[in-house]
Amino acid sequence: MDLLNTLVDKGLRRELPTREEALAVLATSDDELLDVVAAAGKVRRQWFGRRVKLNYLVNLKSGLCPEDCSYCSQRLGSKAEILKYTWLKPDDASKAAAAGVAGGAKRVCLVASGRGPTDKDVDRVSETIAAIKEQNEGVEVCACLGLLSDGQAGRLREAGADAYNHNLNTSEATYGDICTTHDFSDRVSTVQQAQAAGMSACSGLIAGMGESDADLVDVVFALRELDPDSVPVNFLIPFEGTPLAKEWNLTPQRALRILAMVRFVCPDIEVRLAGGREVHLRSMQPLALHLVNSIFLGDYLTSEGQAGKDDLAMIADAGFEVEGTDTTTLPEHRRQGCGEAHGGCGEAHGACGEAPAETTAAASDDVSDVVPAPAEETRRDLVSVRRRGAGTDLPPNA
Ligand code: SF4
Repeated sequence: MDLLNTLVDKGLRRELPTREEALAVLATSDDELLDVVAAAGKVRRQWFGRRVKLNYLVNLKSGLCPEDCSYCSQRLGSKAEILKYTWLKPDDASKAAAAGVAGGAKRVCLVASGRGPTDKDVDRVSETIAAIKEQNEGVEVCACLGLLSDGQAGRLREAGADAYNHNLNTSEATYGDICTTHDFSDRVSTVQQAQAAGMSACSGLIAGMGESDADLVDVVFALRELDPDSVPVNFLIPFEGTPLAKEWNLTPQRALRILAMVRFVCPDIEVRLAGGREVHLRSMQPLALHLVNSIFLGDYLTSEGQAGKDDLAMIADAGFEVEGTDTTTLPEHRRQGCGEAHGGCGEAHGACGEAPAETTAAASDDVSDVVPAPAEETRRDLVSVRRRGAGTDLPPNA
């Protein structure tokens, strides 16, 4: 396929594909899916080998947000029955982080709901970063606290934050459809503040919110323009009780095509498979490891992921290896001028909830009789609200 040969050549040269080529990846058929994965996999292996970076989410403050991001279970007016709690104490956050590190995570992502932190919140998070770094040698810490005000990025950097996450989530053209309390430019500005303060930027997207292929390509190109070190790709988890609860728009095949497109546009950037992995990729999760070089271990902010030990088994079974703390994530040419490579949050701040759609075929000996089922099959059974770990008395999943 000429398209894939061209994209592999460009990816190996770190050359940006055209918008048309990115759109063409999303338009490939299910028959071409393994060719697409194989092609993007060559680019992934060129820059990241067979390594998988593990990240671990700690939700420092859950729910009761005054913002109205429609995809988020923590939003204003959300009826989702998620855990709601205020700031975790530094020691409790550190214990949660330690469970992730013991499970193999090299980065801990500290996330708090809300429009953005107050200066007092920055103090709290600074204490938490200090506790985590003291008790977990060599761990990378990413903060994800919403929109930053003047001077806060610098204070977080001084406190030891290696990275800051703030997702663009969707295209600028459709941002107003998913949120009215802040806009796309606010998000861009926060990512730029984090970069200017010397933190590694992590910024990504949420797919499956009803956006068009053009929107997906737009947001990925906007991210590429911002040049973060890490791009988390979330698949919407349509939580009951949120405005997007009925948006079951993804199949495992579609999710894989989206990940491949992101890899071609961001060949040498950490592409992180984030929230919605289990819900939308389901048994196809191992194929995604050929596209992304980073995932979250265990649970997400407000939903439960598969058991951490199953994440590790999946990585080993698929022939990949967990990236150690002695290995730098980004390729050498991207390390210049950025402390290292780092990425942000999974379901974080823009969270993710969602559910997949899958295509099934009627059992038949004659393929001509096979009638595909609608692509929008809902799998609410796979959306599991988090009831363990941070904010509960139960041990975390790591
Ligand atoms: S994504 Fe962040 S800012 Fe938006 S509603 Fe959720 S917690 Fe609030």
